[in-house]
Amino acid sequence: MINENFLKLPGAYLFAEIAQRVKAFKADTPDANVISLGIGDVTQPLAPAVVEALHKATDEMASGATFRGYGPERGYDFLREAIVENAFQARGINIEPNEIFVSDGAKSDTGNFQELLSKDIRIAVTDPVYPVYVDSNVMGGRAGELGANGQWSNIVYLPCTAENGFVPDLPTEHVDVIYLCYPNNPTGTTLTRQQLKRWVDYAIEHDALIFYDAAYEAYIQNDDIPHSIYEIPGANLCAIEFHSYSKTAGFTGIRCGYTVVPKSLCVNLNHVWNRRQSTKFNGTSYLSQRAAEATYTSEGKKQIKATINYYMENARLMHEALTGMGFKVYGGTDAPYLWVRVPEGMTSWGFFDEMLHKAQVVCTPGVGFGPAGEGYVRLTAFGQHEATEQALERIKHLG
Ligand code: PLP
Repeated sequence: MINENFLKLPGAYLFAEIAQRVKAFKADTPDANVISLGIGDVTQPLAPAVVEALHKATDEMASGATFRGYGPERGYDFLREAIVENAFQARGINIEPNEIFVSDGAKSDTGNFQELLSKDIRIAVTDPVYPVYVDSNVMGGRAGELGANGQWSNIVYLPCTAENGFVPDLPTEHVDVIYLCYPNNPTGTTLTRQQLKRWVDYAIEHDALIFYDAAYEAYIQNDDIPHSIYEIPGANLCAIEFHSYSKTAGFTGIRCGYTVVPKSLCVNLNHVWNRRQSTKFNGTSYLSQRAAEATYTSEGKKQIKATINYYMENARLMHEALTGMGFKVYGGTDAPYLWVRVPEGMTSWGFFDEMLHKAQVVCTPGVGFGPAGEGYVRLTAFGQHEATEQALERIKHLG
């Protein structure tokens, strides 16, 4: 018998459905030159400093004297110390190496962390939302039933719309865990320090935890936007923070991230997460961890910044061109995502199909991220410049 919670999940993961439609289109139109502004994968190669670290680590693995097998369960000290120094101490944040858990990426950790909590807790998510938070709670048996409105009966949805400036309102009923992701996937919008402080204050007052996904913090350009929730006083009492090198440094194929579980949290999750990880996870590779360490060297930092600037130049071009065409465009200034209102009277999937068939451009239908995403599509700035420009030119002639 299959775990019935898994059977509750609707058919396909969003990107599988998109891939299916693109495949069918290509089969019907073999000459099509499809450009994807859809899935959030990166296109630029690794920074030379990272490649050098990978070569060096590979050579170490090739010699009996320097070979490494299983690593320490929380990750190697060299990486956890580099993280603490560069991502936290440099911002005046007091986080200790033993509060850092190195992982194979933020998807695993954001998906798995819910396992530590009782089946009876109530979670809140923003709507639209990165689907992993919702689906992993469905698997964990705490989401209830899926309604015709696209919402799960036991999940509290916090709509983020143009009307509230994509800043969610505090919940009006008790919740135990709130998932926040800023800069946001999919809307590309952010919270200022003041706006995030309201959430930290709320969590402390209501005995709630915040699961804060900072996968896109490297894209922040504006100084008023926090890179870490721990910039907000009191967050070490109520927040777990997830990081990823995927979009920061092009590690989608290398695999490395980390999660911060403060020892000062109101419940001792640091110990429980350590117990869970040492049972179910045997670490990310030595090579990946050396590669991640190299992102903190002075050369590595410069090279990574140059790639982020490359993507943000795409975002700027897209924002300017789409606004010029009369679209309402949100995000894209401190994040690699643009959230675009579809023309009046169209649905997200309707516009997706039109873009695919008439412009041969792939976008992501906003409704795939939650009911409040209906009427929007997400575009990503992770393409090559030339392809991005070509896609914009085609959208211009959509008619
Ligand atoms: N969190 C968010 C919000 C994401 O958009 C993504 C990837 O798209 C991830 C986490 C997953 O990152 P990783 O590649 O580290 O698993």
